This record gives sequence, C-alpha cells and structure tokens, in this order.
Amino acid sequence: MTREIPYKIYLEEDEIPRRWYNVRADMKNKPAPLLNPATHEPMKAEELEAVFCSELVKQELDDRNPYFDIPEQIVDFYKMYRPSPLVRAYCLEKELDTPAHIYYKFEGNNTSGSHKLNSAIAQAYYAKQQGLKGVTTETGAGQWGTALSMACAYFGLDCQVYMVKVSYEQKPFRREVMRTYGAKVTPSPSMETNVGRKINAEFPGTTGSLGCAISEAVEAAASQEGYRYVLGSVLSQVLIHQTVIGLETKRALDKYDIVPDIIIGCAGGGSNLGGLISPFAGEIVRGENNYRIIAVEPASCPSLTRGKYVYDFCDTGKVCPLAKMYTLGSGYIPAPNHAGGLRYHGMSSIVSQLYDDGILEATSVKQTDVFAAAQRFAKVEGILPAPESSHAIKVAIDEALKCKETGEAKNIVFGLTGTGYFDMVAYQKFNDGVMDDYCPTDEEIARSLAGCPVIS
Ligand SMILES: *Cc1c(COP(=O)(O)O)cnc(C)c1O
Repeated sequence: MTREIPYKIYLEEDEIPRRWYNVRADMKNKPAPLLNPATHEPMKAEELEAVFCSELVKQELDDRNPYFDIPEQIVDFYKMYRPSPLVRAYCLEKELDTPAHIYYKFEGNNTSGSHKLNSAIAQAYYAKQQGLKGVTTETGAGQWGTALSMACAYFGLDCQVYMVKVSYEQKPFRREVMRTYGAKVTPSPSMETNVGRKINAEFPGTTGSLGCAISEAVEAAASQEGYRYVLGSVLSQVLIHQTVIGLETKRALDKYDIVPDIIIGCAGGGSNLGGLISPFAGEIVRGENNYRIIAVEPASCPSLTRGKYVYDFCDTGKVCPLAKMYTLGSGYIPAPNHAGGLRYHGMSSIVSQLYDDGILEATSVKQTDVFAAAQRFAKVEGILPAPESSHAIKVAIDEALKCKETGEAKNIVFGLTGTGYFDMVAYQKFNDGVMDDYCPTDEEIARSLAGCPVIS
C-alpha cells in the first residue's frame, strides 16, 4: 500500500531529536586527532579548554559515545523553528520532467536564515553553563555570525564577531542584523589584535579571509577574562550538533517508508553535509544499508576533489590546533570573483575520513552553473536559495535529469541549508551576466599545499 506523499513532511514537536548522533563511534577508521601546532602531540583537553568551552571540548574529543543528550533548554529553543520541513519538490520534478522523486530538508526557516543556528544555540548554551561572559568568533558571509548573535542574545552572553572585511563592506545588512542582536562586529583584519596588525602590515589593503578572521577571534578570546572562542563549522562538535538535520530527515522519510538512493549536501567546512548524512553514513559503516552520498563543493575552492589529505593549519595565523583533513593549504584564498560561499580551505575531519574511506563521493561545480540551478529552483519551488545551498541543488537537478535518461524513479534527498536574501550582490552579478568561473591551476594549489606543516 502506498500512501500519497504530501508536499511537506512535517514532524511533531515531540519528534525533535533528544540526542545528537556521533558517527565517529561507529566508524572503523576514526578521524585523526587534533595536534598541538608546536609539539605535534595530540591536543589534551586542558589545552583545548584554554580556547574552547569545556563541555564542547568533551564532545570534540569523544569518538566512542554514539549519542550526546541534547539539554532541555536547547530542545526548547529548537522548538521555535524545528522540526524543519522535508519538502517533496513536486514542482521541480514536474519542471524537469523527471521520474525521480526529489526531497529537500529546508533549514532556512529561522531569522539567521541557515542551519547554523542549530549549533550556535548549543555552543551559547554551554558557554552560559560554564559561567562565561561571552564568546568570540569569525564570520565570512555572515550566516554564522548572525546565528551566534541570536543565540548569545537568547542566553544573555556578550558576542564579538570578526567579520571578513570584504563581507563587512559588501553585506552591511548582515552586519546590522548582528548588531541589532547586540553583537560587536569588527572588520578583519583589524588593528585590535596582534595577528590582525601583522597581517595588515604584511598585506596592506587586504580584504581579509576566513583563516585570518579565525586567528583574530582566537586571540581575542585568549586575551579576555571569561571569554572563549566558538566556531561555526569544521569542528566535530559542530557537525554533531548538525545531526538534528539528518535525524529529522531520516525520521520523516521513515514515516512514509521512503528509502533514499542519493543524498546530496553542499560542503564548505562540512558541518551541514556531515549532519545530514551522519545517520545514513552510520548505517553504511555498520554494514546495515547502502546509499550514494555526494558532497558538492565549488570549483574555485575544491578541497575534497583537488586537495590533499594531510595535517594542516586551520587558520592563517597558525594559532589553532592542526587537523588532518582534505585541504588546499591554509594560505589558499578563493579568487575574489567567487560569489558562492563555501570558501574554507579545509574540511571537517569526519567528512574527510568518510571520503577517504569511500563512504561518500565528492564533486565540484562552477558558480555560473550553481546560480543557474538556484534560479531554476527558485522559479518553481518558491524559495530563494542561498548560493551555498545551490551547490546541492545543482547536483540534485543533474542526478534527476540522469533519471530522465534511464527512466529510474530514484529517491534524491538534498540539504537546502538556507535562504539567499543577503546574497543579492552575487545574484546581481549573475543576472547581469558578469559572473565568471575561475578554477585554480594545479600550480596554484601545489604552491598553497607546500605551506602545510610536515608531520613525522
Ligand atoms: C555556512 C553555510 C554553509 C556551509 O557550511 P558547512 O559547515 O559546510 O555546512 C552552507 N550553507 C549555508 C546556507 C551556510 O550558511
């Protein structure tokens, strides 16, 4: 008996997950540990606690426990915007004239406009529990800074955001949302930190990078009493918080006995992708099931498809622990015309290990194709997607069109991580036809990779 599948599969409030899933517990090959950048020894909890909140350090280092309870206050906050809908893209299917069934998990239904609030609220909660005064962070495009500002406002914490200068100038409205929520927003590189002054002196007129803003935020946390640094992607703790996406997705699919054939996510630092796929990857590594999982990254920042799996610095200033990950080198900065987000040089160590083990595949896409897919989606599905999310849309459409060739009714599930209302400068470039597709040369990537540390 098949039931009619609604446009939106909603879950009940009491179906919000009460535990986050830690896929590392089920992985045979565990992700490599973070290393101390000076001694190259695995980072100890005490060392990490100087920079990060204690409870988050526990989550970061724990690769044995499969589940972490979600504290009641975080669940209560989740209730304001979760469960998020799993949408059957009937209109897109019709437009593509495909026999495929397309589903997307939409994380843009909150004021921050993206999935980042799922981890921001958790990190703010643990900072508050620890009795801290506030937190520092970096933000690139601004989604993370916005989400963290909201979370900090909710728990009454001070929030200091180092925003990559080019975004600070190009996205004044993002900045004002953060300030409205009470955050202090500083363009990076600034003259307020040692590392910022150093980078400004070395590269006068630089418009900044994510790696540089991270270094500034870490220094700011370390130099103020009662402050810690928090990060919106890449770290295992963040990926774990984002498993609410995958757990809800699985639950919604199970309600209608839908088994996905292909699961697609965009990959910047890997947190939404890792969160979406964790429950499914868990089934794969436990030998219970098989799915095709695809990570999608920009052709101009292709860490999985063209990077190397080595230990690297997580930030430009080289103050953070070393992580083993697929990386383009910490000095890698995507071309200035790159407008689609996902510009981090490295990748979550969990996603990296799953990729290295062949649990997931990766592909890269050109930004003009991404925006064309975004427009096609927006016209029929009624959501203006974030450029980041549109990387996943592009590949979902490609896979659905392949089904049209073969006549297969595959179930395609992708993560729609957010809305694109603050990305109109990028859309404008696309609409004006002045967006181009820059791909780094092999030499450029090799030069940047040469800066990775040598670990014996
Ligand atoms: C930050 C962001 C991403 C990429 O981050 P991940 O850690 O790779 O998930 C994707 N989509 C949106 C809307 C974002 O804000």
